[in-house]
Amino acid sequence: MFIVMYMNGIQKITEVDCKYWSSAETMPHREMKKLQLARLREQVNYLWENSSFYRQKWEQSGFCPALLRTLDDIRRIPILHKEEIRLSQEKEPPYGMMSIPGRGPFIRIGMTSGTTGEPVIIPFNEEDYFGVYCAGAARAVWAAGIRKEDVVHAAFGFTPFLGLAAAYDCCEHLIGSLVIPGGIWNSVMRLTMIKRLGITVLMGTPTYLLHLAKVAEENGINARTLGIKTILTAGEPGKMSIPNTGVRLEEAWGAKIFDYCGTQETHYLAWLCDEGVGHMNEDLAYCEVLNPETDEPVPPGESGKLVVTDLVSKTHPCIRYETGDLVRGIDAGTTCACGRTLSVMKGFMGRVGDVIKVRGVCVSVAGIENVIRGISECSDSYEYIASKNESGMDQITVRVEPKRDVEPGLWDDMRKKVAQKLQLSFMINMDVKILPPGTLPVFELKAKRFRDTRPKIEDSSGAPCVSAK
Ligand SMILES: [Zn+2]
Repeated sequence: MFIVMYMNGIQKITEVDCKYWSSAETMPHREMKKLQLARLREQVNYLWENSSFYRQKWEQSGFCPALLRTLDDIRRIPILHKEEIRLSQEKEPPYGMMSIPGRGPFIRIGMTSGTTGEPVIIPFNEEDYFGVYCAGAARAVWAAGIRKEDVVHAAFGFTPFLGLAAAYDCCEHLIGSLVIPGGIWNSVMRLTMIKRLGITVLMGTPTYLLHLAKVAEENGINARTLGIKTILTAGEPGKMSIPNTGVRLEEAWGAKIFDYCGTQETHYLAWLCDEGVGHMNEDLAYCEVLNPETDEPVPPGESGKLVVTDLVSKTHPCIRYETGDLVRGIDAGTTCACGRTLSVMKGFMGRVGDVIKVRGVCVSVAGIENVIRGISECSDSYEYIASKNESGMDQITVRVEPKRDVEPGLWDDMRKKVAQKLQLSFMINMDVKILPPGTLPVFELKAKRFRDTRPKIEDSSGAPCVSAK
């Protein structure tokens, strides 16, 4: 048994001998659907009464709360685009429609990275931050086996990017672990501190934590001997979306690898259990997978764009928010070997703009990364570029680096091997270039691995993918 208390609005756990963080994790499917509908109705009614933005948007589209009789009726609500949030924040700075009257004072903000335009700002009051957002993260942290006896290191610099920072707050305030920041530490300093402070858990992006293991190796340290038992990744696709990235991390650190994902605008959406299955916080967020071209739902379990409705946050609820992510699909109605009944996220394929159709084939960051990280000679760094060749055909160039111990005389063999594996996986030829080790940039947060140099003409060949590897 375990006991949960609230202190100053913060959930505190006093007993650690329990398998699940929340009773929602084992809720029967039918009950979950009922809960989702009840929460959706409450949320929509609340916004109808309290948000002039939603009231106006919905009235213009002909939607009103009375039309919401089943979960499927959610399709009657118009989709919310990031640009609408951005415009509302320009008009009414700093929060725009993300601030519902009467929901302050705010104790934390999230801010998007701004890769697609001006960053969007997301305010949280105490209840929505600790009671909802961090509580969603707590399930991921708990499922990864992180307990108050652990020493957790946040291997990233603090910014208003909440993906990793809220997991940090969750470890400190909800789980009760000793949490050690280290934003300005360089990699060698981190490695020293891991040993000196007895750190058992690392949190960071997969890219950076692979880089850290490489720095250890370059300094004559075997990362597997440093005592890290658990690695929790976020900020870019990890083990849930790219299994071979999980394999590499596990090999490098000798630790158990867990991964979670979500959006700052809504929630932590999915996280890995001990069985390696991605469970979804579906009592907090209702997720739809839609055909990117028609906005119609795809058949159950199939890939498409992810649209999320926040069922509980009252500070800044996003209803039918188009995340810009493509996912492999969601499986519902199953029970995992771990006992959880939550729907299963099959992984992210990348941002809509990063997944492109070339000669009828979908090429994604996640797909390419999984191939490259399955080839032992390749280092963890790579990028791919879409361009037009001399005949005006779409072409993909993949630039990879060999590991430092691969002799230059073997680089051409490696190039052929990478090209062959990519061809087998995607059924199209890609141009592979080998770069000397250390050429490509190292990212701490949100690696940017795709560039599209093709002329910006909207045509079917550049349309987002409906299905992919
Ligand atoms: Zn499970």
